[in-house]
Amino acid sequence: MVMVIVKKLVGMLVLVAAAQGFAQTVIAIRAGGVVDPAKGLVAKNQVILVENGKIKAIGADVAIPAGASTIDLSNEFVTPGLMDAHVHLTLTEIVGGNAPFESFYLKESSTYRGLRGLRNAQDLLQAGFTTVREVGNDANYATEDIRRAIQAGMFDGPTILSSGKIIAPFGGQSTAIPAEQGPFWRYEYIDADTPDEVRKAVRQNIYYGVDVIKLVADNSPFHYSVEEIRAAVDESHRAGRTVAVHVYGGEPAQNVIEGGVDSVEHGFFLSDEQLRLMKQKGIFLVGTDIPKAQLEVVGTSGGIFPPPDVLAPKIIDRLRRAYRIGVKMAFGTDTVVEIPNKSRADLMLDYLAVWREAGVPAGEILKCMTSNAAELFKINQQRGTLASGLAADIIAMPSNPLENIESLRKVNFVMKDGKVIRRP
Ligand SMILES: [Zn+2]
Repeated sequence: MVMVIVKKLVGMLVLVAAAQGFAQTVIAIRAGGVVDPAKGLVAKNQVILVENGKIKAIGADVAIPAGASTIDLSNEFVTPGLMDAHVHLTLTEIVGGNAPFESFYLKESSTYRGLRGLRNAQDLLQAGFTTVREVGNDANYATEDIRRAIQAGMFDGPTILSSGKIIAPFGGQSTAIPAEQGPFWRYEYIDADTPDEVRKAVRQNIYYGVDVIKLVADNSPFHYSVEEIRAAVDESHRAGRTVAVHVYGGEPAQNVIEGGVDSVEHGFFLSDEQLRLMKQKGIFLVGTDIPKAQLEVVGTSGGIFPPPDVLAPKIIDRLRRAYRIGVKMAFGTDTVVEIPNKSRADLMLDYLAVWREAGVPAGEILKCMTSNAAELFKINQQRGTLASGLAADIIAMPSNPLENIESLRKVNFVMKDGKVIRRP
């Protein structure tokens, strides 16, 4: 009885505290410049008030309430946190290419993969990536557990949208595994070879907690038909999930585009007509525009890719054409390699050179890394821009990224959902 009364009293005190605004101190950030990627403008000398993880107010004449804790970024440029639409947190491909996925299944447990993924997620947050979309190859749903642990407050990390197992025609992305070995690619792929099987695979992934459905459309002589793609889109959209599809070009890409997916991943060999159809249908390109140095580590990926000398200029050309045609794009990297003395974030930011070479202006690149990605993820009412009511995912750097996009390499302040992760 006494305990019940004590609990009630404590409960009342908490309510009173919340009503009086004691629940969390207001943080006031004094920002030298706030970058608006969508408009390509910098607003000088702004104040950003942050409370309960969200932006409460932002502007030049916002009053700082008494008792607020202040953060001085008056010599910095502030932008929304960065987003990457195509990551594989738990995967590392250090050996000389050809995607030896199968060896990981034998040599690395889901737990080990999960720990690597957590480490990568934390490093990316430190570098300013506050939201990432994991597109599979994450062992047996390891990323769902990383996301759960971050959401439960066990670790700091970015917002993670994850796709669980990749849905593909029989064989996943393996080729010619001896029959004696059995279908062990099912460790991270679901075989689905009819529209009904695709629907069932979508439902299985959703059961295990995924936010996005990922298909590989063109890994073998069989590629997905328009009907199979439509089945995935219909089933996913009915459950409020988007569909991302790995495809390079040709007829498989035509089926993917006509099937009405949300994003085409890679699309290295898309024609101008296909890019125009994507624009017309509002389909995003997540081009994973791999720099040559990383292509050299990946190799020909089992004969799927032409040599790096041939592929690298094709990737730049496709990005240039996509930008000129006006396809909606989101920044996505697909970084899985290791190169000595480079962090994974360094390797992801190495993609900026490809975007620059393709003639995409800095403001547009930043948009693809923030508000465009949030639109693709369907979280643009919560994240991706700096505005009152949105999550306080805020980063800062000493120089203006609209003048030089490489400024993003110097991120020295990161706030995630209102929590300071690093500061200058
Ligand atoms: Zn990928």
